[in-house]
Amino acid sequence: MTLTGNMLIGPHAICGSREAIRAINPATDQPLEPAYPGGTAEQVEQACALAWAAFDGYRETPLGARAEFLEAIADEIEALGDELIERAMAETGLPLPRIQGERGRTCQQLRTFARTVRAGEWLDVRVDLAQPQRQPLPRADLRQRQVPLGPVAVFGASNFPLAFSVAGGDTASALAAGCPVIVKAHGAHPGTSELVGRAVARAVKKCDLPEGVFSLLFGSGREVGIALVCDPRIKAVGFTGSRSGGIALCKAAQARPEPIPVYAEMSSINPVFLFPAALQTRGEGLAQGFVASLTQGAGQFCTNPGLVIARQGPALDDFIATAAGLVHRSPAQTMLTPGIFNAYQQGVGALAENAHAQRVVTGQTGTGPNQGQAHLFVTRAQDFLADQHLQAEMFGAASLIVQCANDEEIRQVTEHLEGQLTATLHLDDADLDQARALLPTLERKAGRLLVNGWPTGVEVCDAMVHGGPFPATSDPRTTSVGTAAILRFLRPVCYQDFPDTLLPAALKHSNPLQLRRLLDGQREA
Ligand code: NAP
Repeated sequence: MTLTGNMLIGPHAICGSREAIRAINPATDQPLEPAYPGGTAEQVEQACALAWAAFDGYRETPLGARAEFLEAIADEIEALGDELIERAMAETGLPLPRIQGERGRTCQQLRTFARTVRAGEWLDVRVDLAQPQRQPLPRADLRQRQVPLGPVAVFGASNFPLAFSVAGGDTASALAAGCPVIVKAHGAHPGTSELVGRAVARAVKKCDLPEGVFSLLFGSGREVGIALVCDPRIKAVGFTGSRSGGIALCKAAQARPEPIPVYAEMSSINPVFLFPAALQTRGEGLAQGFVASLTQGAGQFCTNPGLVIARQGPALDDFIATAAGLVHRSPAQTMLTPGIFNAYQQGVGALAENAHAQRVVTGQTGTGPNQGQAHLFVTRAQDFLADQHLQAEMFGAASLIVQCANDEEIRQVTEHLEGQLTATLHLDDADLDQARALLPTLERKAGRLLVNGWPTGVEVCDAMVHGGPFPATSDPRTTSVGTAAILRFLRPVCYQDFPDTLLPAALKHSNPLQLRRLLDGQREA
């Protein structure tokens, strides 16, 4: 399949006419063909008009048909075969197993949402039957279901070219909810985006859905991205990227005459707590697990363990020595883009010059461009508490160990943390009381709490929470991974005293969709 450099406005392949981007192979710094000209204001407007025109039809598709659409996207992505894998590798520098795994995860994610759509639990149907005889006042017949918000703008993420990009989690959950999607492709992987975008467009056609259900735009965030967020037909935004980018989109969305929700997943340093008994009995294994998690994928994961918190003493010294040896031997890895590499170098450089932290060790250098080295730093609790810069995300394989003099300092450091996607506890039985004492604070700080594991590797399932208080995300009430992500794109509507014939199928007396409704306060079997 030849890459064209064209956007997709519904089914129409259309070339932009703003400044073009070209992907850069980060392993060589060489540009990749073709060029991808950016979309114009008129083209953004066309995509929004098409999405709006598609909305009312798409949102009432039968659940089975919508599920088949999601499955058809997965089938079409798999049918792209090696071409997708090769292009994604060239555009990201990520190795074959990672890209193959990510493709599997992307398709599994789509199929999981298909299962969710079919089950219909997300419609959250509640029925309170009329009580005409109630005293002193009768009660009306009241029925509630969830309806989709409207067209959603999705910003593809740089670090997941498949699983959080054109047909990734945000797109899958919005489509599952019944929302048309317009993707603003990430400039790091436009070819991968075009291939996946065309796969989605084929699925739209195959499933005979309204043509504006999906569009794919190229161009800069500040032009195409902001124009999308400000278009009155866009009703929600999904984003993964930098804190500054996420905040810019939140501000634009709030400044609209009709403000809309932005679900931005931004920045997290994912604290790992090493409790004394665990550190004493298995410090070496913990150091191995930590460095493996830290260096995986050149550390370019939102769940990368960027902060370790423990009591100072010989056991922590041994942990640091073992981790330092492993980091020292760890090879440099190609980072995703020259921009991300430069931002990482700057972040690490700033920490190296910060008097409140000391560098312990640096990993191996690499040959070629954009080679991210691993780094380990240490600080004291009082310095960490005194300097907010020590909480800045370094997007790469760098971590800071906070040495605490006592449990009170651990408590203060925990309380001082910004919002996080994850918090990890390494503990043995003897540590349980100490861990229990920290839990109320950690529940306030993080979206996912783990015991004796590592935060990298996020399961796509019903119970997952990939979210958390700011700056981990812009809205701590939701998740961007897992089936609960569908809830971001829904809102409740109540129907009062409707004749059965006017009610949507989900709310009809005969319950034709066989949903487990909340009927007069009781969940149906
Ligand atoms: P980014 O710079 O935030 O870009 C992500 C997307 O948002 C791009 O499409 C970008 O458009 C757009 N955008 C950025 N700033 C914008 C603004 N002010 N107004 C409108 N749109 C804007 O993220 P990135 O390129 O993926 O990586 C840069 C840094 O983000 C990394 O070094 C890292 O620190 C952080 N990051 C964090 C995570 C995480 O999960 N925590 C993931 C990825 C990146 P353009 O195409 O114009 O750039």
